[in-house]
Amino acid sequence: VGIEHTALQVLSETVSGEVVTSTDAGYDTVRAVWNGAFDRRPAVIVRCRTAADVSAAVNFGRDQGMPLAVRGGGHSLAALSTCDAGVMVDLSLMKDVTVDAENRRAFVQPGVLGQEMDAATQLHGLGTTLGTVSHTGVAGLTLGGGYGWAMRKYGLACDNVTSFEAVLADGRIVVASATANPDLFWALRGGGGQLAVVTGFEYVLHEFGPAISLAQFIFDPKKSLGALKVARDLAADTDGDRNMWLAYLYMPPDPDMPEDVRGQFVCLIMAVSLNPKDTDSDWLDPLLAEQPLMVERRTCEYFELQTMFDEDNAHGVGAYSKGAFFDSLSDEALEVFARAADNVVGEPLVYLQQVGGAVADVADGETAVGWRSADYVLNVIQRWTDPAVADACRSWAREFVASMQPLGMGGQPLNFAGDLASGMSSSDDVLFGSAYGRLLGIKRAVDPNEVFGPLGG
Ligand SMILES: Cc1cc2nc3c(=O)[nH]c(=O)nc-3n(C[C@H](O)[C@H](O)[C@H](O)COP(=O)(O)OP(=O)(O)OC[C@H]3O[C@@H](n4cnc5c(N)ncnc54)[C@H](O)[C@@H]3O)c2cc1C
Repeated sequence: VGIEHTALQVLSETVSGEVVTSTDAGYDTVRAVWNGAFDRRPAVIVRCRTAADVSAAVNFGRDQGMPLAVRGGGHSLAALSTCDAGVMVDLSLMKDVTVDAENRRAFVQPGVLGQEMDAATQLHGLGTTLGTVSHTGVAGLTLGGGYGWAMRKYGLACDNVTSFEAVLADGRIVVASATANPDLFWALRGGGGQLAVVTGFEYVLHEFGPAISLAQFIFDPKKSLGALKVARDLAADTDGDRNMWLAYLYMPPDPDMPEDVRGQFVCLIMAVSLNPKDTDSDWLDPLLAEQPLMVERRTCEYFELQTMFDEDNAHGVGAYSKGAFFDSLSDEALEVFARAADNVVGEPLVYLQQVGGAVADVADGETAVGWRSADYVLNVIQRWTDPAVADACRSWAREFVASMQPLGMGGQPLNFAGDLASGMSSSDDVLFGSAYGRLLGIKRAVDPNEVFGPLGG
């Protein structure tokens, strides 16, 4: 690669973090991202420690005309946080979380993972919406909206951000809030990572946890349609503490589980409530009549809930994902959903997550998040360890989502986009719904030369 040697040397001397290239020990460890289907080789990795480091890295990449990829937690399903022959702006060393419990605020750097933020806030009995796998970065998750168990009560992760510090494509460090750079503030809440590099997030915190209520009902996947319908009806119009999650997945080979569940592909209906008293309520009792193979209802710690899917989603396996939004779940949609169990290929996690509540209370157009009025979001996360089956796994996910799509609103949740969206035209609204027009205008204003790549990746 024709990197100007002097420029690279100046960069190394300027930043307080490290500059890593392919000849350095540790290059392979540092460049690895969560999705093992991607093995890209950045020419330069800048391991930033400060916003000034980020600014220097952005200036370097832009001036050298090299592709730039920004890495927070590295979980991008489309591997947007890495690139070949470009500059990876690695934020993973920027790990500070400061909690101001009195004012219910958290100041969070962009290398922080969900588990690190949850641990720091739960110490004070506080939290905000983050995702369901705790080794996901808060940065990418929040910029793409951020769905999680607290969202029906407190909104998406991005709805809880009151201000960002960000490095623009021209290297300037700015604040974006309701009063400073309000267009950028609007766009960063749901518009994804291609607008600016966020170097600091200020979140609002809420009082919940450590105790919450967890219920899991496991069904034979071939006899699960009735249970899906019951769960849907129970979840309709329920309060914002409660969340319904309908899934098909392989259970772990846990020796404590009954044989017909352990390691099997099952239907899992999970209901979580931020209100621990819900453990004693009878709201889920109708599911007992649907002949579950296993039932677990208990009070648990919020942190346990947030980390319970971590091991099943370990780094390094190949993955692909695709999804869609649903404004209601018709019987027909559930019938098609239940066909997930018919001809399983790979190791899919197929789920419908209840949205609504506080997510839908924020008006469309108030942030760059599209599809706010959806009642459910469908995601298929396909995983494989043998690269020979990768294409079959991807096709399975695409075909399954295509079979569901006509029964819903369409769209594609940005955080679960396994395909790149580049080449969108101004009429495209797949990733951003009705927010797309305004977002595109802001992208053109803040990053006209697409230093951070095209909107949506
Ligand atoms: C196993 C798994 C479970 C998941 N569960 C959930 C879930 O429950 N809810 C949910 O909403 N999403 C979920 N996601 C999706 C996840 O939120 C997105 O993949 C998210 O983009 C990951 O953020 P990251 O910082 O870890 O990833 P990265 O790969 O580092 O970044 C993702 C994108 O954001 C950009 N980016 C990262 N940091 C910054 C920054 N500071 N400034 C500007 N751009 C930045 C990157 O360039 C890239 O485009 C899950 C993903 C996986 C793999």
